Amino acid sequence: MYKYLLFDADNTLLDFDTAEKQALRETLSASPLGFSDEIHSRYHIINDNEWKRLERGETTREKLAVERFVRLYDEFGMDGNEYGAATAKQYTDNLAHQYQLMPNAEKVLDTLSRMGYKIYIVTNGITKVQKSRMKNTPLEKFVLHSFISQEMGCAKPSPVFFDKVTEYIGDGDKSKYLVIGDSETGDIAGAVNAGMDSVRVTNGRDVQTAATYTVRELTELYNIL
Ligand SMILES: [Mg+2]
Repeated sequence: MYKYLLFDADNTLLDFDTAEKQALRETLSASPLGFSDEIHSRYHIINDNEWKRLERGETTREKLAVERFVRLYDEFGMDGNEYGAATAKQYTDNLAHQYQLMPNAEKVLDTLSRMGYKIYIVTNGITKVQKSRMKNTPLEKFVLHSFISQEMGCAKPSPVFFDKVTEYIGDGDKSKYLVIGDSETGDIAGAVNAGMDSVRVTNGRDVQTAATYTVRELTELYNIL
């Protein structure tokens, strides 16, 4: 019954947690601040706080990307205004060459594409980072197109984002689409808003979800498709 599979990228197909950890280590090691476990854990506290500010509408995604490093320098007694922007840019560059995959991602996309499903990516990431990462993973050959929020000017969970996806694909029948992702607020809420069915990928956790289906990891998609 489904024809088009709209996969989220980070922590659904690509292992963002590992990518982030590695990119941060590379970035901070080469920065005036240096890398330590203390600085690393401080970064996460600041980053979480900035994301909460974004949800409350107190900052923008672009400001957040720089401000988290400005604050990190400030907290360790260095001039964030002097170093923050350069470190933020370096972090984006380093993140763009992290290609770690979630378990079985390649095998599952291979199988699903052989079964005849049309596979797309729907991601709220930064265009430069996501394009570079997808291009350098073995997943690229299975993906017909990547829809990236930054270049579309709208983001999940907005129905505008999903309208643009169906418009591009050229099939407005929502019952043929299945959204697959790990984020309740982005992927699943987006699918609900768009009138599409969805699969919440829990990555082994127990969660409450409004999704049509729940899987603990990607191979369980075979039970649905
Ligand atoms: Mg995700």
